Amino acid sequence: MTKNLMATVPSQIRAVSGHPADASTPMEVWQGLSAAVVDAIADDWYATTRAYRAGRMEHYFSAEFLMGRALLNNLTNLGLVDEAREAVGAFGQDLSEILEQEPDAALGNGGLGRLAACFLDSCATLDLPVAGYGILYRYGLFKQLFSDGFQTEHPDPWMEEGYPFIIRREECARIVRYNDLTVRAVPYDMPITGYGTRNVGTLRLWRAESIEEFDYEAFNSQRFTDAIVERERTADISRVLYPNDTTYEGKVLRVRQQYFFCSASLQEIVDNYVAHHGADLSGFAEFNSIQLNDTHPVLAIPELMRILLDEHHLGWEEAWEVVSTTFAYTNHTVLAEALETWEISIFEKLFPRIMEIVREIDRRFRSDLATRGIDPATIDYIAPISGGRIHMAWIACYASYSINGVAALHTEILKRDTLKEWYAIWPERFNNKTNGVTPRRWLRQCNPRLSALLDEVTGSDAWVRDLSALQDFDGAATDAVLDRLAEVKRANKADFADWIKAREGIEIDPDAIFDVQIKRLHEYKRQLLNAFYILDLYFRMKEDPTLAVPPRVFIFGAKAAPGYIRAKGIIKLINTIGELINNDPVVSKTLKVVFVHNYNVSPAEHIIPAADVSEQISMAGKEASGTSNMKFMMNGALTLGTLDGANVEILDAVGPQNAYIFGATEDELPALRESYDPAWHYENVPGLKRVLDALIDGTLDDNGSGWFADLRRSIFEATYEPADVYYVLGDFAAYREAKDRMAADYADQRAWQRRAWINITRSGRFSSDRTISDYAKVWGISPTPIA
Ligand SMILES: *Cc1c(COP(=O)(O)O)cnc(C)c1O
Repeated sequence: MTKNLMATVPSQIRAVSGHPADASTPMEVWQGLSAAVVDAIADDWYATTRAYRAGRMEHYFSAEFLMGRALLNNLTNLGLVDEAREAVGAFGQDLSEILEQEPDAALGNGGLGRLAACFLDSCATLDLPVAGYGILYRYGLFKQLFSDGFQTEHPDPWMEEGYPFIIRREECARIVRYNDLTVRAVPYDMPITGYGTRNVGTLRLWRAESIEEFDYEAFNSQRFTDAIVERERTADISRVLYPNDTTYEGKVLRVRQQYFFCSASLQEIVDNYVAHHGADLSGFAEFNSIQLNDTHPVLAIPELMRILLDEHHLGWEEAWEVVSTTFAYTNHTVLAEALETWEISIFEKLFPRIMEIVREIDRRFRSDLATRGIDPATIDYIAPISGGRIHMAWIACYASYSINGVAALHTEILKRDTLKEWYAIWPERFNNKTNGVTPRRWLRQCNPRLSALLDEVTGSDAWVRDLSALQDFDGAATDAVLDRLAEVKRANKADFADWIKAREGIEIDPDAIFDVQIKRLHEYKRQLLNAFYILDLYFRMKEDPTLAVPPRVFIFGAKAAPGYIRAKGIIKLINTIGELINNDPVVSKTLKVVFVHNYNVSPAEHIIPAADVSEQISMAGKEASGTSNMKFMMNGALTLGTLDGANVEILDAVGPQNAYIFGATEDELPALRESYDPAWHYENVPGLKRVLDALIDGTLDDNGSGWFADLRRSIFEATYEPADVYYVLGDFAAYREAKDRMAADYADQRAWQRRAWINITRSGRFSSDRTISDYAKVWGISPTPIA
């Protein structure tokens, strides 16, 4: 395989560019090198696909796959980074520059989509027969720019220049029928390599196309624009990823998208079953299981019923037996607005037959529960159809053989609260699968210096496939190793400072503490709390110029959903505070604020290896798991966080002396809320008055938008939510204390590095390999190596 790559790179580049390799542009070199990688894995990919299809398979359905870049990931997994560097170096090209040519495949919003991507990497590495299914969005998540500190959104046509890692499979196209439209679903396959294995998995993304390339009748009858409109209506289905983490706009189109990829994927899976096991579908679930990544793919449940009933003529009970042993459902959030429901009228309009099946599921559900003696009010509340709407989460809970949350605390909240009616009836369905992240991308690939140190200390690269092995090296932190660890971090920070200078035009000091909060912008994640701290610190320094403040760089990255004005207000606020601080001749010597625009997987790979502090400060009970917390830990940053999501388990892994935990806990909050008065905190908690007044007294300019005043009102005034619903003022004092203490502790570098080391060596349970091994037991699949 290795020799193959070296030999083919120049010819692949020539085929792309039509020029000699040394006269090709960096973009052409990226294209050619990528094609050479696909060439190198083609045989193994084909063999893996055939082997998996013959046995029991897991199918991972997700509306989002936040893949990021592919080339370096594949080179890393295949052990070809050095060869590739040499191959392009031979004609004067620098591999790092080539890698920067690649666009991010940003086919996801945030954590949920990135989780799906990490899972595919782990499945490939563990030789597990799993395939991913989603949508080939033409436009990924919008590109974010700042204008006067305001977020502006721009289209991201990520495949426009051609994308060698996605291969069209014309021959596998399917037809998807709506009441008002029939479309062709054409699959595009992405190879998913694993580390240290020849197995290559598949991510299959569907693209919507017209049945007829063109409506010639409309064309010939002079209705040229009609023909175009029809084509556009079809292409709309896979045109754009909805840029919202929690609620969705464009409802009809959104439902169309969901049905589109579920229907196409199921047709393929059923056909594959028939090809291998014959036309009797009653054994379908012995060979197939489907994981629903949140409720976005729940339409697969009635769609599989339809296929079994209408196309394979099973009876209802027989079909339901198949369906209810096929699906498993992952819940990702307890935010009420995220439990998807749809108007019945949308289903009636798009697919009356699916609506009929949902009604029958609802009817049988109600009689099933009545027989169990469940009271009518409860039945009505959790029925698939209630209040004139279709409840996707309830359909998922009823049909699934397994229901899981994504961190221990989150699963407990589901059982106790969000899904308690379901837990009371079917407790055996519930289980926890704490999220994880792949140590290939999030350590091996993004942090080569730390990787080399770990190879050296542990004596091999075995930790890349078994991260828990690092735990044995807890005690290996000699002074020499800790010095090396400090050097690694310092060098990563210097690289990051160069990258930021080039990207954002801001100079930062690599010896300052790099304090990082990167994640989607949402009020529950409390970027506002961080902003308040920074502004307060600025005022404290202005008030007392002799105050001893350790140099710090506050780094943010976050996109706000375009319609989420308050989130956009927080972005504007952070940028405005940054302006104030970075331009202050005195304070800017000690503090800097950097908002990295267009946060995405690739920027994360630059930021995380350079971080000292990982901000995980959501209001307790709101962050289902979080995964950036795990990426930071693996790279030796210390967590500053609340007892929320997987932070609870990180604390358990590292011990209280190796993390900074503050704030109200999930079980304390209800009682605290009863007597909570933000106005009291404003008057009495040191610093808060000054900070909140700065929002309206002219200190900070929101360019007449009124957004800062709105942020202030969200703290003091109850509208449709209670005042300060995310308890920002309530947790401020504890946050300030913990963050000040943390910054002071940084001065003892030896002690700091010792704690960073423990974070790294104890991160094994947050590898997505551990998560996927847990899922594999639920799925009933086992490793299927091809060689
Ligand atoms: C990991 C990751 C996320 C998830 O971050 P959280 O802090 O867990 O919300 C979001 N976006 C990108 C690009 C990521 O890599």
